[in-house]
Amino acid sequence: MTLPGPGIPEPPAQFFSAHPSRADSFTESVIREMTRLALKHNAINLAQGFPDFPCPPELKAAACEAINADINQYAITWGAKDLREALAARVQKFNGMSFDPEDEITVTCGSTEAMMASMLALISPGDEVVVPEPFYENYGPDAQISGATPHFVPLKDDFSLDEEKWKDAFSEKTRAVILNSPNNPTGKVFSKQELSFIADLCIEHNAVAITDEIYEHIVYDGHRHVSLGSLPGMEDRTITIGSFSKTYSVTGWRVGYTLADTALTSRIRKIHDFLTVGAPAPLQRACVAALQLPESYYKELAGEYDRKRRTLFAGLKKAGFWCELPQGAYYIFTDISSFGMTDTAFARHLIETVGVAAVPGSSFYHKGGETKLRFTFSKKDGTLTEACTRLERLG
Ligand code: GLN
Repeated sequence: MTLPGPGIPEPPAQFFSAHPSRADSFTESVIREMTRLALKHNAINLAQGFPDFPCPPELKAAACEAINADINQYAITWGAKDLREALAARVQKFNGMSFDPEDEITVTCGSTEAMMASMLALISPGDEVVVPEPFYENYGPDAQISGATPHFVPLKDDFSLDEEKWKDAFSEKTRAVILNSPNNPTGKVFSKQELSFIADLCIEHNAVAITDEIYEHIVYDGHRHVSLGSLPGMEDRTITIGSFSKTYSVTGWRVGYTLADTALTSRIRKIHDFLTVGAPAPLQRACVAALQLPESYYKELAGEYDRKRRTLFAGLKKAGFWCELPQGAYYIFTDISSFGMTDTAFARHLIETVGVAAVPGSSFYHKGGETKLRFTFSKKDGTLTEACTRLERLG
């Protein structure tokens, strides 16, 4: 059949049913749909997790400088050398892991591409991946696109691991586990002990851990971020994913990375090359400047988010939501049972009549989640207080 092009009409609807695609097996992102709805109704967007405040001035200056210095053509496909070198030093210092910038670090278009490239590099159709539930929305479609069969393991009510369920989830078909700590949407920060339990299962079943650590610098109340890949026996079987998006408030730059041993990295790089060629060159240069910020930057970042967390928490409580303070990341995952509406209906009601957008809980579950709603507090203080005032109208 001829595909549409100039002067060629769109194929009839039957075309789509006669030609199924992997894109039919998942829906559009609910998180980003909520952003569109928020814009349409002029609601405050506490749905999609991105800051409405500026990134550090050092990053803006470095990006402008890079463009003016004509760093405007492709970087090396797996990432500019200076950025990979700066990342290797940072990861050694903060995460306690050693990676050779030459063949163990790959710069990607955000952690979203890092996850997709990792799964495409790793999975053969039919392989199983173990995914704790609730999970970040993208992991469902990532599994569908890569041909993996996801095996969802529910977290306990306090978001800790149900060890028996985890043991049952692993089999000879298990190729990988997808972990996200600090966690989106729950805020859970997995302890070293919990990570050791997962590491033991990976080692016993010869599985790889793909660990999304994008919120590694956003932790509260003395919780400590531990990289799964830093645990003994995990060095060669972990793909650690990081990003500049959340740590430096530049979600639109699309610069992330994978850290993995040479064998895994060479596969990831091949997929990455044909998916995207590379992340934006001038922004990679600016990310080197980000890595030069003083240690105090990270402390202040966590301190600021701690304050914002408490503001939104108090507002949500006052408005009648059941919730707890998260241990890390920048979301509050609430229970809405007392409002007597399901998540999607309630999310629409909030946007259209209260003027605040949040994400329906069901987008973080393969089944269920209708009693949950996720709010982000990655916003200016003024945005958060106005959102809290609006939420009071619910009462
Ligand atoms: N990680 C962010 C969230 O959960 C943004 C998601 C996205 O749109 N890429 O809201």
